Amino acid sequence: MIKAQLEEVRFQISEAAKKVGRDPKEITLIAVSKTYPSSAIEEAILEGCLDFGENHVQELCQKIEEISEPVNWHLIGHLQTNKVKYIVGKTQLIHSLDRLKLAEEIERQSEKKNIITKVLLEVNVANEASKHGFKLEEVMNAVEQISQMKHIKVEGLMTVAPFVENPEDNRTIFRKLYGLSVDIQNQKFDNISTSILSMGMSNDYKIAIEEGATMIRVGTAIFGNRDYSKA
Ligand SMILES: *Cc1c(COP(=O)(O)O)cnc(C)c1O
Repeated sequence: MIKAQLEEVRFQISEAAKKVGRDPKEITLIAVSKTYPSSAIEEAILEGCLDFGENHVQELCQKIEEISEPVNWHLIGHLQTNKVKYIVGKTQLIHSLDRLKLAEEIERQSEKKNIITKVLLEVNVANEASKHGFKLEEVMNAVEQISQMKHIKVEGLMTVAPFVENPEDNRTIFRKLYGLSVDIQNQKFDNISTSILSMGMSNDYKIAIEEGATMIRVGTAIFGNRDYSKA
């Protein structure tokens, strides 16, 4: 089942990219494996998946132990400051940098380990009370401050769009995140890249690709519905 679903998602990625004249190779598919067992990850690895996204530090650390293949691990969920020490050095990318206090802790822990941690700034584009992330108007100041931190490298922006019945309704959200990334690029901050735009999930990744996503985070469309009772 994972094989067939992956084929379908890859086909849709390529169709969405072609529709707007983009090269599908510009888009990295992150298989969101939260709540699924490591056996599902192994299955996806056999089908050529290299990037996996997890929400919780503990679950991520456990899966890193269980999976021996050298895959890229992405932390995509809210990160508590006191958990940073467990995760720094283990991720390809942290997508959910959503406050300056967290940046300071990632800086501190990365300095201790003498590494540079790659992050995306999470932006709450729709300004939803239930969501984490910088407000649109806070991002520029945050970027400026984080650009001073020597052990953090900002690689771009991420957003979790609202859940909507019609994915078209999220098009303006994705367009705003893209616009913000262009604005940041134009400021020419030191030590800041805007090359990654992490946006789009199972429900709306095709629209996100049309609006410039370079990473999409897809769980259910690959692995099926999640069973939270076992999580
Ligand atoms: C769970 C999750 C996803 C994947 O959601 P699906 O709808 O299953 O594709 C993507 N991003 C984040 C931040 C998530 O928490």
